[in-house]
Amino acid sequence: MSSFQHTIKKTIRFRGIGLHSGKPVTLTILPAEVNSGIRFVRSDMNQEAPTPAFMDRIIDTRLATTIGTEDDAPISTTEHLLAALVGMGVDNAIVEIDGPEVPIMDGSAGPFVHVLKKIGRSRQNASRWMLKILKEISYQDGDTYVKILPHNGFKVTCEIDFDHAFIRKQTYSANINPKKFAQELAAARTFGFLDQVEMLRQNGLALGGSLDNAIVIDETGVVNADGLRFADEFARHKALDLIGDLALLGFPLLGHVMARKSGHGHHFALMQQLAAQPDRWDLVTYEKEGENRVLEKVASTTREAGDMLLSYLVPPSVALAGEPCMA
Ligand SMILES: [Zn+2]
Repeated sequence: MSSFQHTIKKTIRFRGIGLHSGKPVTLTILPAEVNSGIRFVRSDMNQEAPTPAFMDRIIDTRLATTIGTEDDAPISTTEHLLAALVGMGVDNAIVEIDGPEVPIMDGSAGPFVHVLKKIGRSRQNASRWMLKILKEISYQDGDTYVKILPHNGFKVTCEIDFDHAFIRKQTYSANINPKKFAQELAAARTFGFLDQVEMLRQNGLALGGSLDNAIVIDETGVVNADGLRFADEFARHKALDLIGDLALLGFPLLGHVMARKSGHGHHFALMQQLAAQPDRWDLVTYEKEGENRVLEKVASTTREAGDMLLSYLVPPSVALAGEPCMA
């Protein structure tokens, strides 16, 4: 993991449709200054200030992760785009969007990552702060859990277990860096069960959903003619969602995140646990780049580091949802 903050080299634009609205949307990503993080702007609204991609802005975790502001400018389905940005090592960027949903593209982070790789990122003259886990932090709900353990790097282990003849149990586990993210996770698509997709449609949701932007599964298997991109594409997509949601911590993680049967609501509950236990993590930066970066500079004291993040983290009152039917 690089010791320096990065932004994108130049402005990029995507056009697509919203998964739930089915409406066309234009997404523009612009370079941003150091320490500004990833911020969203609804260009179709008069927003007073950009919405930081930060966990205190989460307003809904059903079906997808939605962030918003007091002036009612929600932005939904943030997780695949945020996974693409943090997965490719982008710390600072402005995301402009002319509607309430990030375009679903092909249901994965692949199209975003493809362009991010092509234009590249620029190193900025500021250290990157990382959130280092010192002691296990966990959230459990029945047989679902999400936890983070101390680890020298960023690792994810994601297990899914559906009561469905075609999926059942799958586990994906890897140390994540931009190369690994681009190769193994970016292209993994969202998925849904045919009967649930039909139910969503009847409720005016998933109107933009099609076999072009989701894997659809019925009793016999995958409906999409081309089948799967990876044998364990479902578990990989869950890992992608997890990375995209944890981007809302605002700092890259140094830890091993383990999740079983989790959804967006559980990811958010884990972040609330983290915010509530500042003695279990620290904000750190490295004094040297590359192999010699053994000298780790810890934020002056654990207490102050905790306060730095906690000042943002007032747990909002968000209803936690169970296992979502669209991933
Ligand atoms: Zn997803």
